[in-house]
Amino acid sequence: MDAAGSVQTMTGGCQCGRIRYAVTIDSDDAYLCHCRMCQRATGGVSIAFKSVAIANLEWTTQAPDRYRSSPIAQRGFCRDCGTPLTFEFLSPDETMDLTVGSFDQPGRFVPRHHFAAESLHEAWIDTHALPRIRSEDNPSTSNRWMDAVGKLPD
Ligand SMILES: [Zn+2]
Ligand SMILES: [Zn+2]
Repeated sequence: MDAAGSVQTMTGGCQCGRIRYAVTIDSDDAYLCHCRMCQRATGGVSIAFKSVAIANLEWTTQAPDRYRSSPIAQRGFCRDCGTPLTFEFLSPDETMDLTVGSFDQPGRFVPRHHFAAESLHEAWIDTHALPRIRSEDNPSTSNRWMDAVGKLPD
């Protein structure tokens, strides 16, 4: 264990909980991919990924469903809830990517670079100065949560 990038086993999974993983990581490094395949596969303007050693990853419930998203890669997801979980090259590799948002504690990770910058949507990169509205300050959302379960989501 070192202070800067401690070795840690972290867990995560899909939204419905059918697919869960545990992975040992040794750094906070992550990145954003802006390629069109990632945009289409996630519906987002980019996707945050954490590269992990395949040998350090264990699917603790069951392996994800997989979709061959290009001639060189496949993506893991949950067919029940749709959560994007992985990016993996088809040819043998020592690493693969997990989606940062699928970790139970995604706050540890820090973006270190932009990948596929040729299809990066510039307007979405520096959003720091935009107004920030919390969920509880939006009655359209918070009232629905309170009516449904009596509290806001975690
Ligand atoms: Zn699921
Ligand atoms: Zn991509």
